[in-house]
Amino acid sequence: MNKHAAAGLAAALLCALLPQASLPAPTDFAAATRSLAHDIFKQLIEINTTDSVGSTTVAAQAMAQRLLDAGFGKSDVVVLGPNDRKGNMVARYRGKAGSTLKPILIIAHLDVVEARREDWTTDPFQFVEKDGYYYGRGTQDMKDSDAIAVADFIRMRKEGFVPDRDIILALTADEEGGKFNGVDWLLKNHRDLIDAAYALNPDSGTVRTDRPPAVEFEAAEKLYADYQVLATSPGGHSSLPTPDNAIYHVADALAVLQKSPFPFELNAVTREYFKQMATIETGQVAADMRAILNTPPDPAAIARLSRDPAWNSTMRTTCVATMFSAGHALNALPQRADANVNCRIFPGTSQEQIRLELVKLFNDPKLSVRTRNSAGEVAAEGTDRKAMAPAPLSDDVMHALRSVSAKLWPGAPVIPIMEVGASDSVYTSNAGIPSYGICGVAIDRDDERAHGKDERVAIDSYYKGLEFYYLFLKALTTAAG
Ligand SMILES: [Zn+2]
Repeated sequence: MNKHAAAGLAAALLCALLPQASLPAPTDFAAATRSLAHDIFKQLIEINTTDSVGSTTVAAQAMAQRLLDAGFGKSDVVVLGPNDRKGNMVARYRGKAGSTLKPILIIAHLDVVEARREDWTTDPFQFVEKDGYYYGRGTQDMKDSDAIAVADFIRMRKEGFVPDRDIILALTADEEGGKFNGVDWLLKNHRDLIDAAYALNPDSGTVRTDRPPAVEFEAAEKLYADYQVLATSPGGHSSLPTPDNAIYHVADALAVLQKSPFPFELNAVTREYFKQMATIETGQVAADMRAILNTPPDPAAIARLSRDPAWNSTMRTTCVATMFSAGHALNALPQRADANVNCRIFPGTSQEQIRLELVKLFNDPKLSVRTRNSAGEVAAEGTDRKAMAPAPLSDDVMHALRSVSAKLWPGAPVIPIMEVGASDSVYTSNAGIPSYGICGVAIDRDDERAHGKDERVAIDSYYKGLEFYYLFLKALTTAAG
């Protein structure tokens, strides 16, 4: 279904819900929603929400005000957080009175990664429209989805739509870093405000339109972990080298790491992913995808697919050197070398288990391998924490997702993925709230600019994503589905 047809359907739905007289004409309504979504998106991009100097509180308050202005009750919209700069907004869209169904929760982070003006073509904190794209920090990750959720809440409310259960929207702090992760904080301090049957997190999942089109949603994700690989040596004058050199110890270990991929693994989600991808890929790639699902899997097929970084990371734990610092003078033997190894751990294995694997792999008693947290603090041992448990592919969610996707992207398969990065879903999932990464904003595979420079989203994709969440939330919360 194209956008105009989708707008027509929306108009049909709302006609069934409200007396005709209170409605603007459908085209006006679509235009008004589009204009509202534009203004909210612009407002969010232009509020700096970086950890260094920004404030998620300012953004949270602005979104709360939007909802209050649209008629949401004061007690249903709150801004709260651990300090002045790390506020979160929680809004409750009331469902049918007396509903026994547990609410649906949407989590979406307000904070963005740092962006320097001199690195960008445009000002990252100005909302710029250019060549069919919206530019600005957060246009992909993830102020697009924050704005879409708020605009759709307002649109549904203006139509008088009453869902069959409450829908909760939590816009949160510190997903990208910082010490006050909003989802974690809300779960620990205000669980009642956000408790739900399941969570939707538009931070992951996407629609691919460049290659064989596909609607990808996250049902599993890897665990993020950093390790410090450290060596110390006596040092001395560089004219008198000795074999015990901290830099060589660490460099040798990193060279071993580079040549030692972790073993191939599959789980229910990645198995389904490759099974479905094999039907839309062609030739050798499709054959390889089928071959890795065999028992035993074909090693040559694994090797070929591993050349694609995304598929490689979907098939195994990955660890890679990301930082290195060593030495103290040009003409002195080093006394210390310190590398950071960043790992993305396959579900089922803990941070500590991978630390022990690295110790075994390096096999050098001169090295210490310790874990490092996001604040840079090192600890001798890792935790037993594992990645989020893969979410069940429940009928309710799958049915709504498939039917809405079929309307907006006819013929595109709906494919579960394991996110190779990490999101706040780990908190909701570990708190017993199954979590799905679902986002209707299409991004080309080669135009991933999240965290990078000149971040942008195609204007058409943004408005289609707006339509997607509107239809999806309605499908999830309407008895007829
Ligand atoms: Zn994000």
